[in-house]
Amino acid sequence: MSYGRGYGRRRRGGGLKIRLLIAAVMIGFSLFSYYSTGQVNPITGEKQRVTLSPDEEVAMGLQAAPAMIRQHGDLLPNPAAQQKLDQIGGELLSALNAWLRTEGRTNPYRFEFHLLSDNQSINAFALPGGQVFITNALFSQLQSEGQLAGVVGHEIGHVLSRHSAQRMAKQRLTSGITGAVGMAGGSFESARMAKMVGNMINMKYGRQDELESDRWGILLCAEAGYDPSSMIGVMDILEAGSSGGPPEMMSTHPKPANRKEYITNVIREVFPNGLPTGLRK
Ligand SMILES: [Zn+2]
Repeated sequence: MSYGRGYGRRRRGGGLKIRLLIAAVMIGFSLFSYYSTGQVNPITGEKQRVTLSPDEEVAMGLQAAPAMIRQHGDLLPNPAAQQKLDQIGGELLSALNAWLRTEGRTNPYRFEFHLLSDNQSINAFALPGGQVFITNALFSQLQSEGQLAGVVGHEIGHVLSRHSAQRMAKQRLTSGITGAVGMAGGSFESARMAKMVGNMINMKYGRQDELESDRWGILLCAEAGYDPSSMIGVMDILEAGSSGGPPEMMSTHPKPANRKEYITNVIREVFPNGLPTGLRK
């Protein structure tokens, strides 16, 4: 009888120890994989915590793009407007590629720009790998090519700084710590892929990511010959849009007033002697 009780107690104690040990191993494994997944960003040369390769980012973005387009009422059937978007996007990419050549780097991403029919949510976003979207609600309110360049440059920035891929690596760490090893081993079965695609569509970036993308917007605009201070006008549009209820973009981006101040500061920092002349608004 005493043997039985003692055995029972030992067993309970042993079970707990084993569970704790497994938990510790899992947490250790998650932390190890997170901290050992450093990659050098192919654009910036900066070291980042990312598990996906640029090719995988491109594939995921392409896979998620149709769902994103459906969610926003399909593409806007306006070839002239789409052409304008492609033109500005192309100019920003030419400027990026010219800059990368001087740095001895190449761009592994494949950019595509989509104009969405959505007339309700004032928003623009990007999927990893280069799928960039802007809603007609925002596009139709822009007053100049410079403003469009600012919006598109910002979204290109999310791709270049690999914000989604960084978030996914962090999510993987979190899910590992909470017990689900998640996509450990980096395998891409369809169920996991579908879940990640779902997460990606609703992904929100942190404040720092947004400011970093604003910086990209400024740099790419100026390199492409557009006045980056046009981005201030975009913030005014976002602010005005928020008076009738918060536009979609407010939930995913810092307050426009704070971004205005940040944009002004970055322009001053990048161009201490003032902006070059002849930039297009
Ligand atoms: Zn953003």
